Amino acid sequence: MKYKRRLRPAFLYLFITVAVSFTLALLFVGFTKPTSSLQTDNTITDNSEISEVLLGSYEQSSYSFYPINNFDLDYEIERKAQPANTVRIPILTYHQIAQLPANPRTRDYYVSPEMLDQQMAYLSDKGYKTLTPKEFYDILASGKNPEQKSIWLTFDDGNYNNYQNAFPILKKYKMTGTFYVPSHRSGIKASQLKEMTDAGMVIDPHGKTHMLLRNVTNSDDLYQELVVSKNSIQSMTGKTVYSFCYPGCEYNGSVTSTLASNGYLLGVTCGRSIDHKLSRRFSLERVHVYNDMQHFKSILSGVLYYPTY
Ligand SMILES: [Zn+2]
Repeated sequence: MKYKRRLRPAFLYLFITVAVSFTLALLFVGFTKPTSSLQTDNTITDNSEISEVLLGSYEQSSYSFYPINNFDLDYEIERKAQPANTVRIPILTYHQIAQLPANPRTRDYYVSPEMLDQQMAYLSDKGYKTLTPKEFYDILASGKNPEQKSIWLTFDDGNYNNYQNAFPILKKYKMTGTFYVPSHRSGIKASQLKEMTDAGMVIDPHGKTHMLLRNVTNSDDLYQELVVSKNSIQSMTGKTVYSFCYPGCEYNGSVTSTLASNGYLLGVTCGRSIDHKLSRRFSLERVHVYNDMQHFKSILSGVLYYPTY
């Protein structure tokens, strides 16, 4: 009993010391803890926090401050269900970037510079990343949706207004566009194409002469349109070509197999879907963009409204 009695005060001191230390530690943490756990990207742990970041910092933030995992957040139009085993990345098709002509038959191929600016501002506000063809391929090959909302912007035919009007707008928003140019019939000069790739744009072939390829099986024609065009553009820009755009969206099995055996990774055509499969990488559907903001927003959700302009 004496032994126990002697130890009792020692236990008491120990208990008091531990309790006081613990209380002090709690108070210290309380004072030094950040007022918000969202101060740095490193502290983001779940979706509700991300949406708080997105909504909370919406007005002030610029593109670069967005969290990369915003894929499921902030759509204005309810999204169409995504088919299984697909990767969702909208691919957009533009042609002429200039004031709309009076002729209704050609008008659908035009988006005004003001409308393109509005569309790019929208993508920037929503935290989209614009992809190069190689980046698109890498995500497609992963088989998974990207963590950050992503989009691939394409411009067909190499019209001079693409250089004059689209290029400055993309640069303004720090975005990348892929310009499909007929290598030997381009309205944009070689030096200008080089200027575009030096500024982060991608120039890829739209054939050599914009020949429609659906009925072409002659191997020399295919070589000229698919391979000479590629080599020519690569020597103009100094960059590797990974994708091809079918003139008039026409192609056949000889065309796709010639692309595959000549270093191409992707072939793009026309369509309505924003969901893609690696096995269909030489038939990638792109959605036509009209001079219409509501239609543009509907593409991003995979549901296509009719243009209303
Ligand atoms: Zn074309």
